Amino acid sequence: MSTNLVESVIEGLKTWARVNSPWVIHFNSGSCNGCDIEILATITPRYDLERFGIKLQGSPRHADVLICTGPVTRQARERLIRIYEQMPEPKFVIAVGSCALSGGVFDGLYNVAGGIDQVLPVAAYVPGCPPRPEAIIDGVVKLLSSLQQPAPETAPAREQGATQPVYEGEAI
Ligand code: SF4
Repeated sequence: MSTNLVESVIEGLKTWARVNSPWVIHFNSGSCNGCDIEILATITPRYDLERFGIKLQGSPRHADVLICTGPVTRQARERLIRIYEQMPEPKFVIAVGSCALSGGVFDGLYNVAGGIDQVLPVAAYVPGCPPRPEAIIDGVVKLLSSLQQPAPETAPAREQGATQPVYEGEAI
């Protein structure tokens, strides 16, 4: 068996595992908790996010996807970056809620740096204040669908270069 064939089989297996069993960590960088409650609702039996193989994970070292809520406050900024840097490659960020997208109602405050993409590369944007669980699930599923492609290089932070999101949802 050639080396290329072995490598492509291994990459295919990794992609299959990543798409069917992504581990997710959630971080609130300044949210009012409205979006966080909706995220918790998505993992209850009623909305059952786990049917997609998604598992909420406590450690960034074991997580594939970082779900962020709220604007980035200056106090939380370094912690957000530290969590992202502890995650293994490839890793993906989903911004949930208007505040995570743009700073929302907190935009312009002296202690707010802006939306998540001012600090990290965002792969999927889920708008709403707060977004309904259906919208969050839609964003997660669109992200997972995009991962069927070969694993992309993780993009640099927005500060270092532009990034292309795979999903920009509409508010439901
Ligand atoms: S988008 Fe709305 S619910 Fe979510 S953190 Fe901002 S103000 Fe709160």
